[in-house]
Order: sequence, then C-alpha cells, then structure tokens
Amino acid sequence: MNNPEPRTKAAAPNALTVDLEDWYHGCCSAAAPPVPAEQRRVRRNTESILSLLADCRVQATFFVLGSVAEQDPFLVPMIAAAGHEISSHGYSHTLAPLLGPEKFREELRLTAAIIAAQSGSPPAGFRAPQWSLGSATPWAMEILQQEGCLYDSSYNPLPFVGNRRGPCAPFAIGTRGGSILEIPPMVTPSPIGNLPTGGGWGFRCFPLSLIRRSMQALNDAGAPAVLYLHPREMEAFGPRLPLSPLQSFLSYGPRSDAAGRLRELLSRFSFQTMKELALWASA
Ligand SMILES: [Zn+2]
Repeated sequence: MNNPEPRTKAAAPNALTVDLEDWYHGCCSAAAPPVPAEQRRVRRNTESILSLLADCRVQATFFVLGSVAEQDPFLVPMIAAAGHEISSHGYSHTLAPLLGPEKFREELRLTAAIIAAQSGSPPAGFRAPQWSLGSATPWAMEILQQEGCLYDSSYNPLPFVGNRRGPCAPFAIGTRGGSILEIPPMVTPSPIGNLPTGGGWGFRCFPLSLIRRSMQALNDAGAPAVLYLHPREMEAFGPRLPLSPLQSFLSYGPRSDAAGRLRELLSRFSFQTMKELALWASA
C-alpha cells in the first residue's frame, strides 16, 4: 500500500480564493463593455481551476462577479456542485468609490440574488474589485453588515492598492449594526514594505520558496494564509487588454507558472473555504 505524501500540518486554516471574472475585467475603474460570447474565456479557465482543485482535494472560495454569472448561468452551479463556496465580487467590477453607497448596495443585492438563484444560497462574503474599499468608502462596511455579509476580504495591506499599514491577519471591523470580519490576503513583510506574495504578479514572480515560507510563518503564528487567483492567470497566452507597460506587467507578468505553483502549495498545506475560516477566526 502506498503511503500518502506527508502534508505540512497547518496551525490555522488557509484559503484559496478565486475572483471569478473574465480576461477583460482586469485593471479597470468602471464596468467593462460587453464582449461577444465566443471571446469569453472564463468558463474554460474555471474548468482548469476546478480540475486542479479536484486533483488536490481542496475546497476553495469563488468571489463571483454577478454580471459574469448572469452571462453564463452554468458557471455558478458547476462550481457549487464541486463543493466550493460561492461568494460575491459585486456585479459590474466598478471600483467601490465610483459606485457610491446606493449603487454599491444595489450591486450587492443584485449579485446576491443571482448567486442565490443559481446556487441555492446567498453569499456569506464579499471582495471589492481591485481591493477598492478603504478610506474613500466609509459607508461600505455598514452596508455589507446590513446586507448579511459574514466576512469581507477587500482590504489589502499593500502600498498603492491598499493600506500599507493595515493588519495582516483577520480582524473585526465594527459598524452600528454589528461587526464584520475582515480577512486580508497574504503579504510578506520586508524592509521595503509588504510584498504581494498572496496573489497576482507577486505570486507569479517571487521565488516559490518565499511564498512557502510566508505561508508557514503565518501558520506558525496561528494565522491563516489567504491566496487569490483570477481565471485568466490559468492561460499563459490568453487575450490581453491594451494597458500601460506597468499595468501590463502587473496584470500579466510571467503568467504561465500560476497553476504549477498552486498545485505545489495546495498539496503541501491545508485549505478550507473563507466561510469556514471566518467561523474559525470568530470562534
Ligand atoms: Zn476583480
């Protein structure tokens, strides 16, 4: 009988999160224009992610963009049937400060209704497009609490895209109606500031050994490591938006290695869904 590969026992649950959007939703401040069905890539790339997750026996959390779920009503049922958590990424992928409180609530409700109709239950969590909650959206947490969110994962402790001095472990944000658990993605502290090792270009560019050590250090300290991925990162030569050189590097960089890196980490560490992580952190 073959012995299974030894797994590193994590001190805290980790989570793999997928921002379920298409290739044309990257680096934009407003809603993306409609793209013909034959140019969409999200279904095939999601199937690749689901196959990887099944191989590694990991349950992940998908932050679903409502407009994408609406365009392809087979996506959410396919993901939910595989046992993964369906959470919300808003509807149009417009940055939260541009939406304002009324539209923000409207998008939350619309996406929650689509997810509930397609998966059988409303989302328990939320992630804003491009980590766009912060000092410019003081109204957001109260709205999320009122709309029934158990947790949020929109605050990234990074310079430029988030709050560089923000907490790196889950923390509660109080509102008048109660608190919401904020679950930030993994970063790696360094002398020049926090490095984005939990996803995006940092996940694809930094040495895998650094990402492994960062996860282990968090787990050893009793904290979870939260990784994030976009379906477009599963194909090295997929379509690209016409972006500035810097934006292009941040969005595409060395994209081909994301799946191989994930497979290694999914096999080595323990993972649960974000909802399970939120319940663990709140216990
Ligand atoms: Zn997004």
